[in-house]
Amino acid sequence: MALKVITDRCTGCGRCITVCPFDAVYLENDVAVITPGCRVCRLCIKECPEDALYLEESSQPEADMAGHSGVLVVAEAVESKLHPVTLELMGKGRELADELQQKLYVVVIGHGLKSAAEELLQYGADEVWLYEDASLKHFRIEPHTNAAAHAVSGLTPNIVLIGATPVGRSLAPRLAVRLRTGLTADCTTLKVKENGDLVQIRPAFGGDVMAQIVTPQHRPQMATVRHKVMDPAQRFRREGAVLRQQELTDSALASRIRVHSVHRRREKPSISDAEIVVAVGRGVKEQKDLKLADDLARLLGGQVGVTRPLVEMGWGDHTQQIGLSGRSIRPKLLIALGISGAVQFTAGASGAECVVAINSDPDAPVFSSAHYGLVGDLYEIVPKVIAGLERGESIHAVL
Ligand SMILES: Cc1cc2nc3c(=O)[nH]c(=O)nc-3n(C[C@H](O)[C@H](O)[C@H](O)COP(=O)(O)OP(=O)(O)OC[C@H]3O[C@@H](n4cnc5c(N)ncnc54)[C@H](O)[C@@H]3O)c2cc1C
Repeated sequence: MALKVITDRCTGCGRCITVCPFDAVYLENDVAVITPGCRVCRLCIKECPEDALYLEESSQPEADMAGHSGVLVVAEAVESKLHPVTLELMGKGRELADELQQKLYVVVIGHGLKSAAEELLQYGADEVWLYEDASLKHFRIEPHTNAAAHAVSGLTPNIVLIGATPVGRSLAPRLAVRLRTGLTADCTTLKVKENGDLVQIRPAFGGDVMAQIVTPQHRPQMATVRHKVMDPAQRFRREGAVLRQQELTDSALASRIRVHSVHRRREKPSISDAEIVVAVGRGVKEQKDLKLADDLARLLGGQVGVTRPLVEMGWGDHTQQIGLSGRSIRPKLLIALGISGAVQFTAGASGAECVVAINSDPDAPVFSSAHYGLVGDLYEIVPKVIAGLERGESIHAVL
């Protein structure tokens, strides 16, 4: 879609220039000219008194919808291990493929991954395509994009799912541009319509609305999903599940990036993987009071998470932030201390199996998503819980 000017109607009044928020219009010989900075917001069309502006539909042909079938998951590998987001994408991918009565494909790109790729056949894949080469050992964007694009052109899937990890966030947009299709990042829910359209749902406008995005005229439909948002695939081998080894040409494997050495960051346990999380919000009055959460988490063998305001105050690290702009968690138990339960927080915590909320405000929204709620002052309740745990009582007994 592009904005066009009917030059013999334009009087050069300049109202389109005044209204354009992107400075994408200027006058040349008293006629409006639209620059590539135009974001097609249409404000100028509404403002023009002469109806001299209009939208021209793209002449790009629609994709061959019927020719695309199946759900393709792009597996993520770090050295010779698969990232757990792979199984989560496969769980959702299998569900979508079953609904569409299509196949689930997985593409594995890397080195030393044959047995990991074979293992994926036990998790509901119909076909696993493996690109194995020493030059694919480390993630380098050009050959990895070439391998993923090769799999897409060979399998012509309807849907492509990629992890919203640092690697996936680099690969997915490149692949989408290569395939000339749309991409929705950080989806929290994925559904399919009967006609095969993928409804890609994600929070928008700071979490105030859940946007439903579709890609009706292009295939494949591409989405990224964060780790810990979807349930992992169950162990189940499909009849006829097969591993196919693929080859790329030398030029497809070439890269301008040279990996000289790899330094491992000292791995801190990620809050996304914690089974028990004690999350703290602005109900805590002073930084030193975070010790209450530290002690509680230590006694329960869990980790401490925080809301965004605590990170902004410098009381917590961004790796501990739970929510829309932080990490997603799926613990067995989440204890929320002095947290109001804003949608941006719950967006990252909705996968928790059991939520216990402690808040002095009985109307705090956190209680609507909590399984157990304690209305009261956390400064009175938490020390009692800690004392009970220290006496060896169970969490069920002390709460
Ligand atoms: C684009 C965008 C992205 C965002 N992303 C995130 C995100 O990823 N994560 C996130 O957390 N927020 C995020 N936010 C911020 C979010 O909107 C909320 O402002 C934030 O979650 C509120 O944090 P809180 O619950 O700690 O604080 P508050 O909302 O101030 O709540 C504090 C709670 O503590 C209770 N309380 C006070 N004293 C006590 C006491 N003594 N005992 C018990 N309870 C007490 C109060 O009743 C209140 O309910 C985002 C906002 C935007 C706009």
